[in-house]
Amino acid sequence: MKKPVVAANWKMYKTIEESVNFVEKLKKKPLDWDEVHIILCAPYTSLFEMGNSLRGGSFVSLGAQNLYWEQEGAFTGEISVGMLKACGVEWVIVGHSERRTRFGESDEDVCRKADSALQNGLSVIFCVGESLEERENGKTSRVLQRQVTALLSQLNEQLLRMVVIAYEPIWAIGTGLHATSDQIEESHRLIRGIIEEEFVGISGEVSILYGGSVNSGNCRELSEVSEVNGFLIGGASLDADQFAEIVTTITEVKKE
Ligand code: PEP
Repeated sequence: MKKPVVAANWKMYKTIEESVNFVEKLKKKPLDWDEVHIILCAPYTSLFEMGNSLRGGSFVSLGAQNLYWEQEGAFTGEISVGMLKACGVEWVIVGHSERRTRFGESDEDVCRKADSALQNGLSVIFCVGESLEERENGKTSRVLQRQVTALLSQLNEQLLRMVVIAYEPIWAIGTGLHATSDQIEESHRLIRGIIEEEFVGISGEVSILYGGSVNSGNCRELSEVSEVNGFLIGGASLDADQFAEIVTTITEVKKE
């Protein structure tokens, strides 16, 4: 049985001090640390200090929320894999819908980013998901097929093992309206099926997370969806108490 993965996406929240305080508070929680994989994806400015605060303990992994695919050069405002790894970062979110929609990242861009991360030893949380309009027009499966296939076309089995997929319907992100268990089950099965077609026999090893308005009130119901291997959490991950509650719940449910 895979350990559940619970990833926090802090977006553009938390100063260095707030980030380190969160880590120190989380460390003291009585979580079942060996039974869950926690990834904290913080703003760039917090990564170095968080890396220091996490050093020596392996209780959570450090993640970034974005990267650029070049190693170095005249790319004002961008950040490379090497710079992230030097802070102790092991994971990076790629293809978040806010990057795709607000910052115009195409499938090609996000795949270049994923490729650069993976080839240089950074694991990837790769986000996919449909907009409300796409869902209402019956295009969900087509969108997921396109986004997942674009990623898989550049992976081999070894690189696939460094990837976690996050299914995040755009209409559920930050809206307080999570997808239903049936919608999640259906999309996760579809994604796993696409992986299985390309990589026969190993799709079951890939963790597929659900993201979109997960909180301490709905996490039990969402954890009970058998195809859910973990969560990517935005708003509710900002508070260490609520985040720890969600971690506890999914860990318990997946052990049952
Ligand atoms: C996210 O940003 O990835 C996300 C899932 O946000 P929220 O939990 O706030 O919907």
